[in-house]
Amino acid sequence: MSKKYTAFRVTEVAEKQFETSVEELSMDDLPIGEVLIKVAYSSLNYKDALSASGNKGVSRNFPHTPGIDAAGTVEVSDSDDFKKGDKVLVTGFDLGMNTAGGMAEYIQVPAAWVVPLPEGLGLRESMVYGTAGLTAGLSVYQLIYQGINPDMGKIVVTGASGGVGSMAVAILGKLGFEVVAVTGKESAHDLLKSLGAAECIGRDALNDESRRPILKPLYAGAIDTVGGNMLATILKTLQYNGVATCCGLVNSPTLSTSVFPFILNGVRLVGIDSVRCDINLRKVVWNHFADDWKVDYPEGLVEEVGLDGLSDKIASILKGEIAGRVVVKL
Ligand code: NDP
Repeated sequence: MSKKYTAFRVTEVAEKQFETSVEELSMDDLPIGEVLIKVAYSSLNYKDALSASGNKGVSRNFPHTPGIDAAGTVEVSDSDDFKKGDKVLVTGFDLGMNTAGGMAEYIQVPAAWVVPLPEGLGLRESMVYGTAGLTAGLSVYQLIYQGINPDMGKIVVTGASGGVGSMAVAILGKLGFEVVAVTGKESAHDLLKSLGAAECIGRDALNDESRRPILKPLYAGAIDTVGGNMLATILKTLQYNGVATCCGLVNSPTLSTSVFPFILNGVRLVGIDSVRCDINLRKVVWNHFADDWKVDYPEGLVEEVGLDGLSDKIASILKGEIAGRVVVKL
């Protein structure tokens, strides 16, 4: 009889009606892949919540195991790049979308998706970063790659108390940038300042309705995680040659702007994708996390749950109520 493993499952019980449960599955049902990994930790991201609530833009087929992140130990490998016992992590690609994901005791994936855990980074620590951390890291990488440095001025971060935002605040703070954190949660101000924010402002401060093409220049750079009118406002408030990165849509997927910030101020807008991003760039960012970008992310901002505690956290993240990161222990 085939060995069993435990997984968090999402089932479509009626049309557009989804239920979650923790189930025992057969190892034979794992997807085909070169590397079998015993998962130690996963993490909860906004996208997992979309998958777990039946969003067909994220996961088409149910029943399904979500979890776009996983860190653990190689159990079996058909690839020369990995051997039994190696500590590794996987984020993005198709994991947790239409490939059974990290909210389970085992995943089986192509070797091309697997990143060796850098020395100096623990398995749990890597999942405190997770996709949120990688996305924040890619955003910081792009600001620096585009020539932004701490002497040029302030960097504004939206959705600052969320997973990507809080990680971005922490990394930028560690690198000596003056960070302005935009948050809808007054209760998060102290935590954001302890993470590295110099200043916290409310969401209304970046919700310009004036229709003016350009506003007073305030920021050298921006890491935007929310989209919508906040990103449109940021583009108007960037300094000459300022750079904004864009990764998310919790405010709105619509970006209504004009060409003026681009053609009058030389502003640059850089898209961030952590899902299909090149494996070598991932390794660069993960190696930074084990070294000069390693952040003291406060334990007060990390919640650890088992598979049976996930449903509540999924409901909270969908309501924008989570401050910090949720780590899932297998
Ligand atoms: P979280 O839910 O952890 O954080 C989002 C934060 O945005 C909230 O905590 C809240 O912070 C703020 N927020 C919520 N609702 C609104 C609103 N209506 N208007 C403005 N701000 C709001 O999500 P993540 O950090 O995990 O992800 C953020 C975004 O980035 C999501 O859209 C996600 O899909 C996307 N993403 C994209 C990736 C990519 O590869 N491109 C990878 C990972 C995530 P506060 O209360 O502090 O304002």
